[in-house]
Amino acid sequence: EALHKIIDLKGSIRLFCRIRPYMARVWKTKHELILAGSEKIVVKSVGIRKEFEFDKVFSQSSTQEDVFVEVEPILRSAIDGHNVCILAYGQTGTGKTFTMEGTCDEPGIVPRALKELFSHAYLDSSAPITFSMSMLEVYMGNLKDLFAPRPSRRAYQAVLRCNLNIQTDPKGMVEIEGLTEVPISDFSKASWWYNKGKRARSTSCTNVNYMSSRSHCLTRITIFHHGDASEGGTKVSKLWMVDLGGSERLLKTGAIGQTLDEGRAINLSLSALGDVIAALRRRRCHVPYRNSKLTQILRDSLGDGSKVLMLVHASPCEEDLGETICSMSFAKRAR
Ligand code: ADP
Ligand code: MG
Repeated sequence: EALHKIIDLKGSIRLFCRIRPYMARVWKTKHELILAGSEKIVVKSVGIRKEFEFDKVFSQSSTQEDVFVEVEPILRSAIDGHNVCILAYGQTGTGKTFTMEGTCDEPGIVPRALKELFSHAYLDSSAPITFSMSMLEVYMGNLKDLFAPRPSRRAYQAVLRCNLNIQTDPKGMVEIEGLTEVPISDFSKASWWYNKGKRARSTSCTNVNYMSSRSHCLTRITIFHHGDASEGGTKVSKLWMVDLGGSERLLKTGAIGQTLDEGRAINLSLSALGDVIAALRRRRCHVPYRNSKLTQILRDSLGDGSKVLMLVHASPCEEDLGETICSMSFAKRAR
């Protein structure tokens, strides 16, 4: 029984790694990222040899479909009533948004998951299920509702400052006060809202890529499992899909002022996330959720009974080797 529990807990946090393809032709490099089987990656360069283990490694040639096939079981868990958290981690430019959002031709995890949720395979389960959706951005510890009516330019700063409140109810469920939650009844409605959320994110600043490297984008699907009063009434589970801010360290980028503050905010929240996952993996009594807005929001979907999937993204390029090793070490801490 005890052994079973340990195995189950280990199984509740899964770590995947995805290597982005080269963007340009590469002539000669002194380094290599070697895939040893589908679960181990060896980073080799002059005087460096490091091994990292994952539950699954996706090579440069992996497709969106290859990734989604491995994500599906965790989606199934959400339908079965578990809280689920899918997180894309990595340096800016390594493919986090490609994995989560994808492109028109190559949709990523979020659009595929939305489609899957409404597919017959899931809806013919015994209890009726309905869904609702929310999207928010966490920037410098501020929460921004991406479904809120679009504010005028002048009102924007005010909206950004007006923070949504995070509450935890007696059962331990996290509630974000004032966050817009829309019922979604089919895939086309869900897509419509998803696109609206993405637009709200990009219209709020002049440079989307700049902003997305400094903020976290969270999509939440709430799943209502309607049951008779005798079965405890309606049960609720959550599916979070998170495109995290860039994990790159600050020194290299020579950041100053605002940029430095933004970078610090991201680094702090990512290390808080790492601390929480490491504490959960080690079954520590104290899990430090309170150290960042990100971990407070995800609290009920990172802990007991929930399933976490962290997709660590890495660049194949030699100049990114330092960041690649950092990202993989981050994952190693969580193991
Ligand atoms: P991030 O969100 O981590 O900053 P992006 O998802 O924006 O990175 O990826 C940077 C660029 O690389 C984008 O143009 C994206 O389309 C491309 N890209 C990333 N991963 C892949 C992949 N696996 N296959 C093809 N193109 C990719
Ligand atoms: Mg991105």
